[in-house]
Amino acid sequence: MAAVTLFAVPVALLVSPLVGAIVAAIGVLLILVRHNLYLTQLVQWTHEPIGTPLPHAFGVWDFVFSDLNRRSRQASEARERLSAALDRFREASQAMPDGVMYLSHTGTIEWMNYQASIDFSLDEERDRGAQVTNLVRQPDFVHYLDKGHYDEPFLFHPIHRKGAALLVQVIRFGDHRKMVISRDVSHIEKLETMRRDFVANVSHELRTPLTVVGGFLETVIDAEDDLDLADRNHYLGLALEQSGRMRRLINDLLTLSALETGAPQPAEELFDVGGIVREIGRETEALSGGRHTVVVEVDCDCKCQGSPKELHSAFANLASNAVRYTPDGGTVTLSWQLGKNGVGKYCVRDTGIGIAPEHIPRLTERFYRVDRGRSRETGGTGLGLAIVKHVLTRHQCEMKISSRLGQGSEFCVIVPAARIVSCDRPS
Ligand code: ADP
Repeated sequence: MAAVTLFAVPVALLVSPLVGAIVAAIGVLLILVRHNLYLTQLVQWTHEPIGTPLPHAFGVWDFVFSDLNRRSRQASEARERLSAALDRFREASQAMPDGVMYLSHTGTIEWMNYQASIDFSLDEERDRGAQVTNLVRQPDFVHYLDKGHYDEPFLFHPIHRKGAALLVQVIRFGDHRKMVISRDVSHIEKLETMRRDFVANVSHELRTPLTVVGGFLETVIDAEDDLDLADRNHYLGLALEQSGRMRRLINDLLTLSALETGAPQPAEELFDVGGIVREIGRETEALSGGRHTVVVEVDCDCKCQGSPKELHSAFANLASNAVRYTPDGGTVTLSWQLGKNGVGKYCVRDTGIGIAPEHIPRLTERFYRVDRGRSRETGGTGLGLAIVKHVLTRHQCEMKISSRLGQGSEFCVIVPAARIVSCDRPS
């Protein structure tokens, strides 16, 4: 446009100075209009979304627009890269098993991952921008955050999540901002509680018979001259009984400890399950001493793959419990049968005292007893079913318990088909 004007003005001046002036004026006007048009386009472009290209222009504007287009493209590429990096960082933070929450220098929540929202019972979207101590108001948490010494993590028990324990660690970064990391340690705390309970239980279980033995021995020593031989033998017999109880308890503890610490699995072999069940039947009759009717029903003679020693002891434990928790005159039935899908089923049914439903899920816990007194009276240690459960788990067997209070119980062991090798129905 400027070149055309520069060329047209001298030509017009040759015609007349007035025409030259008019052409020059029109030329300047057109130049102004065009600049104005590009300027307007530029202003409009600043309102467009970032990355929108400027239209093609002429002259100096072409240079300006191209330069702006290039810079805008670079800026939007950098922005995309940054946003992709931020997305990746957020995805990684979301995938973390720990809770992560960012706090501004004033303590407001800037961002949190899903786990942090669960740990602190917060809402990822709604609570962004809120003061964290207005939402998590437990005094110990507020104190830890305010006091500013974050060398040690802090064990936090959120009131909204019963039984949960979180290890909370604050890390400072940037300009007085904080990252709050929370790790769920509920299971570790539960294990610690179980360990403490276990030690307390063992100490209690051993102390009781030890006190009784001590008491009897004291009586025998103190009243040496006053006791006749029969009394003396009676007290010594009772002391012997209690020492037997301690021995049984220690044996059970050692067995359990070997099973729990992953002692090497005993060599597996093929053995006759029916034969073992019949043998346990004879042992059960001996244990009952004629006080119960013992019935043995072996449906098939199978060979089973596993440790005969361990399975014998687990199966026998269920049978001895049936005798111990069935009043005289009751019936104990041991059965072994092959299910339709090839699984083996060993059941011990009794007509004994039965178990209320609320106790059933806890019976395999160490030292869990429905009636502590009765268990002790019958020589129980409270560890039998815990040992049975471990042995069965090692053999991928499952235990099913059904019972009715006052009517009797049934403990069944399901042996997976893969362990049953061959079966013959007895003729
Ligand atoms: P314990 O040495 O006390 O018998 P166990 O681990 O063998 O320990 O059993 C745990 C508890 O389960 C027992 O104390 C008893 O209350 C209950 N129990 C086990 N078997 C029977 C059964 N056949 N009938 C009724 N209660 C039973």
